[in-house]
Amino acid sequence: MPGRSPGRFDGKQALVLGVANRRSIAWAIARRLADEGAQLAFTYQGERIEKGVRELAETVDTKLVTGCDVRSDEDVARVFAETADAFGGGLDVLVHSVAYAAAEDLEGRFTDTPRDRFWLAVDVSAYSLVACARAAEPLMESRGGGSIVTMTYLGGVRAVPHYNVMGVAKATLDMSMRYLAWDLGQKSIRVNAISAGPVRTLAARSIAGFTTMEEMFEQRSPLHRHIDSDDVGGAAAYLLSDDAENVTGTTLYVDSGYHAMGM
Ligand code: NAD
Repeated sequence: MPGRSPGRFDGKQALVLGVANRRSIAWAIARRLADEGAQLAFTYQGERIEKGVRELAETVDTKLVTGCDVRSDEDVARVFAETADAFGGGLDVLVHSVAYAAAEDLEGRFTDTPRDRFWLAVDVSAYSLVACARAAEPLMESRGGGSIVTMTYLGGVRAVPHYNVMGVAKATLDMSMRYLAWDLGQKSIRVNAISAGPVRTLAARSIAGFTTMEEMFEQRSPLHRHIDSDDVGGAAAYLLSDDAENVTGTTLYVDSGYHAMGM
């Protein structure tokens, strides 16, 4: 881009999982990376959202848009093979912004979660990070290192009414992030998480009582204000950039300070 000052992601290549629409946190992160010079690759889940994701991807410097259901080992392997092709064999940045739990498990009692839907939530929302990090490892190693960010929530550390099985999945995700940081640190691959306050997205809409959550958040957070996906984009850009070259295995809270409070 003529006249643009050098960006932290000039010459960097980033794969972004989890854009569903323009409200997605993954899209805010992708835009920020693109603004700072990154080339991008995107995955979408399912034909229903493909067109929308392709339209968004066209507005930034995108080398690849491809389908991926993170429950499928074949999909994950294909996506990283396509990414290697599109990016000349390397990858610097991986954004994991994917989660799913059945709507009926995000209301009522956690106690009633059936076995199959418990594992579904953990599979999509936590194991997918492990599968993607493993697939990203050789691509990042070929670049001398890399940086991975995933999205978590306080409901994985403390019980938040209605968050239920998704909280259990986030706890698994948080711990996976730390073990991945240990393993992959040897190869200068950093792995971190952002714990965001409530943002109105497609995924958030399926949580019963989300509006109450937002109200409590505004009352009780030290800054008494909502966050938006651009706040998360800025925090992710920091963690993914060389500014955070000695930061790994950590969770950065972007929540107006809510997590610091006891009531
Ligand atoms: P979103 O609905 O825009 O994004 C969720 C994404 O997960 C979608 O793109 C969806 O296609 C993808 N996904 C679901 N199942 C999948 C599968 N099987 N394979 C591949 N992709 C799949 O909502 P969002 O709020 O941007 O969510 C992104 C991340 O941020 C999630 O991990 C969410 O838990 C986390 N988060 C959100 C909030 C919030 O308030 N919105 C707060 C904290 C953390």
